[in-house]
Amino acid sequence: MQGAACRSDTMDSRLLHDLNAALPRDGAQQSVLHEPEDLMLYEYDGSVELARPDGVVFPRTATQVVEIVKIANRHNVSLIGRGAGTGLSGGALARRGGIIVSFARMNQILEVDTANQRARVQPGVVNADLSLNAGGPHTLAYGVTTNHVLAIEVVLPTGEIVHLGSSALDPPGYDLAGLFVGSEGTFGLITEITVKLTRLPETIKTLLAAFDSVDDATETVVEITARGITPAACEMMDGWTIRAVEDYVHAGFPLDSAAILLIEVDGLQEAAESQAAQVAEVCRLHRAREVRVAKDSRERDLLWKGRKNAFGAVGRLSPTYYTQDGVIPRTKLPQTLRRISDIGRQYGFEIGNIFHAGDGNLHPIILFDARDKQQFQNAVAAAGDIIAFCVEVGGAITGEHGVGMEKDHLMPLLFSEADMALMQRVRDAFNPAQMLNPGKIFPSKSCGEIHVRPQHTGSGSRSRA
Ligand SMILES: Cc1cc2nc3c(=O)[nH]c(=O)nc-3n(C[C@H](O)[C@H](O)[C@H](O)COP(=O)(O)OP(=O)(O)OC[C@H]3O[C@@H](n4cnc5c(N)ncnc54)[C@H](O)[C@@H]3O)c2cc1C
Repeated sequence: MQGAACRSDTMDSRLLHDLNAALPRDGAQQSVLHEPEDLMLYEYDGSVELARPDGVVFPRTATQVVEIVKIANRHNVSLIGRGAGTGLSGGALARRGGIIVSFARMNQILEVDTANQRARVQPGVVNADLSLNAGGPHTLAYGVTTNHVLAIEVVLPTGEIVHLGSSALDPPGYDLAGLFVGSEGTFGLITEITVKLTRLPETIKTLLAAFDSVDDATETVVEITARGITPAACEMMDGWTIRAVEDYVHAGFPLDSAAILLIEVDGLQEAAESQAAQVAEVCRLHRAREVRVAKDSRERDLLWKGRKNAFGAVGRLSPTYYTQDGVIPRTKLPQTLRRISDIGRQYGFEIGNIFHAGDGNLHPIILFDARDKQQFQNAVAAAGDIIAFCVEVGGAITGEHGVGMEKDHLMPLLFSEADMALMQRVRDAFNPAQMLNPGKIFPSKSCGEIHVRPQHTGSGSRSRA
């Protein structure tokens, strides 16, 4: 089993002593965890991966992060940055042991400058407190994290603090802040972030369109964007998932439809209304049997409640499920969904589909029982086949969940050795000894063996999106 086999089981007492000295207790809370029962909470994130760290530390300031880095260098241990630990690719797990640096207590919004549309925040601030598009439903119109991050403060593996980017527009020099976003904790530990604030739209129109065939729904998505309309969100759910959700949330989704689209347009009132009318027309052209516009915020919230609780709904139906994340050109949606359905039949798995259709970001959900070793292997194999097909049609191995330790072995599907060697040289410029988040992103051998996924023994649903 990867992870556990490659590290010591207890934290070195001198290391523990140094960490405790640098991070005194925080009131009633410990700032350093090292007991096995505490570490169990940090051996997983939202993915199907597992790896237990040797310790977890909770800094409150950048100065404490610098101290942690210096101690880690002295003791030759690796560090893994962790935010809320909700990632879906094992990015925040200690794949090769080491100390997790949890930013859960660096969670302050330091400054909100509405006039200049900027906010300065600590890295542990969660989405519920400051809505920042990591990916997800509103990516189509609003972009992903890199489109909202302007500047960062970083502690490098040397212990130096650097400031990258600027809250002013178009700073000169290399876009190193952009380079850090998406580096999955392999370049440095981020201790402060300046983000761009986006004004809420004047009007939001939310439409639900129901179809009798998946192809009609996917072709509708292709035509909406081909007409130059960029919805704020364009989400799709297939028939199996609709029924799972409706049974749980009662959002009013038509139970006998093969697929639904949840489409949102926003902006100034006249523009939003005109776009909503055009979207409805395209849906009907593609044989939508029902197009419903939410009358008020209560109806809108109910439709979104259905979408957002879909993964919870699926979790009621299977001991485990595995959410995949692939991205394809949206024109390839019809054939890709057909292929996913074939893969499900081939392996004997139910595969539900709920995804960000507008940007071709798929989330097939494979239902299986992780207690059955063969099923676990087959689920991983089915997921690999789906991702290989995404690449074959011109897509990529991840749309928003990242590579982490889940998909490092799939990187060669997309990149040549020369491509990956260049990326590794960039990583080495910041993190030459791989003391930060080792064993992530690039295909690796650990302990002389190819990585084998640890098997989950728990019975809960593991992965959501
Ligand atoms: C129910 C559910 C729904 C989701 N929906 C979406 C979605 O719609 N779109 C989407 O994009 N994602 C989604 N996700 C995935 C995930 O929640 C988000 O991507 C989220 O932004 C990850 O933040 P986190 O703080 O939990 O990251 P973590 O899992 O803690 O860390 C992610 C990566 O960032 C690194 N890292 C964390 N903090 C630092 C730091 N301070 N410095 C350096 N590196 C650091 C870690 O090492 C790791 O590699 C969903 C997850 C769940 C469970």
